[in-house]
Amino acid sequence: MSLFAQELIQKSDVSDILDQVLHGNRLDLNDCIRLLKSDNPFALGIIGNILREKLFGKVATFVNNIILNYTNVCITYCKFCAFYRAPGDSEGYTLSVEDVVKRVVTARDHFGISQVLMQGGHNPDLKIEYYEEAFRTVKEKCPDVAIHGLSASEIDTISKVERSSTNEVLSRLQKAGLDSLPGAGAEILDDDVKSRISPLKIKSNEWLNIMKQAHDLGIKSSATMMYGTGEDIEQRARHLIKIADLQEKTRGFMAFIPWSFEPNNTKMQADGTIKYSSGGLELLKTIAISRIIFSGLIDHLQSSWLTNGVGMAQLALTYGADDFGGTLIGEEVVSATGARSTELTSDKIVAAIKQIGFRAHERNNFYETIRVH
Ligand code: SF4
Repeated sequence: MSLFAQELIQKSDVSDILDQVLHGNRLDLNDCIRLLKSDNPFALGIIGNILREKLFGKVATFVNNIILNYTNVCITYCKFCAFYRAPGDSEGYTLSVEDVVKRVVTARDHFGISQVLMQGGHNPDLKIEYYEEAFRTVKEKCPDVAIHGLSASEIDTISKVERSSTNEVLSRLQKAGLDSLPGAGAEILDDDVKSRISPLKIKSNEWLNIMKQAHDLGIKSSATMMYGTGEDIEQRARHLIKIADLQEKTRGFMAFIPWSFEPNNTKMQADGTIKYSSGGLELLKTIAISRIIFSGLIDHLQSSWLTNGVGMAQLALTYGADDFGGTLIGEEVVSATGARSTELTSDKIVAAIKQIGFRAHERNNFYETIRVH
């Protein structure tokens, strides 16, 4: 560490916390609140970068995948969502199992994907057999493609449609070929926030419980945080600590993915609650704090280019992120906000990673390197 960096850290308002984390100590809620309140993003970034480099050196990973949004029909009406359509809406769609499989096969043949990230709305017309058949057929035709699919809230919806338990749903889907669970649907794990932005969605403990059930069944997952919907610092801090606490018990989270709320075309923008996204400095600070809070707990941290853009994702790698995320060809949810073009091929990701002096490794679903670029 340069003398300048050392001085910056020593003079920061959180130097004692940064010292603790460098010594391998777990941080608590108060530490987390102080980090979030700190106005020293550069000091946080230096430590985030040191912690990342200790684990991964100058390697950044990405996964070659497609996002497959199988339906936009949804009965949950989240106020931050521009993607859903109510049942009966003329713009609603649901892909047939044949179409789901065809898209995966085409993406495997044309782009060599190793993962399909399958997510959709809470569609009450879809029974569990739809997912089982889709997963089985994908596995039959593309055994080399991992299924990273269905958020905790989709699992909850299926259990309600089936009048079954979420544990039973997870177990059946695992048998049909589900490999891992994305972390979506967490937003901010605080029920006051949830009641305000997604009153019909599962509450914080239900999200955590479904994640625990998945981990106990051997289904690994990611965890996410969507910040910038008007939550306060303490609510954000509690979110991070709840995930850290569960990870300490299960070790089932492979990665943490923070992203900022994109208000375009959402109810929250229309009613004036939130007009703008949180911006670049907030993203970098959040990346650094996530690396610091999850040090020794969750190894992988995604830079999330999808909502923040490729340039910010490059910078995020220097603040503690180690993973660029995925190629995400065909994504519909974020593109519904008009946030940015969502077509990014592996060539472009490799070029972006190399441009800032990192080595690009293509990974699989489980963050294992499958190709060095
Ligand atoms: S975020 Fe998901 S659950 Fe909420 S309205 Fe959109 S599609 Fe439905």
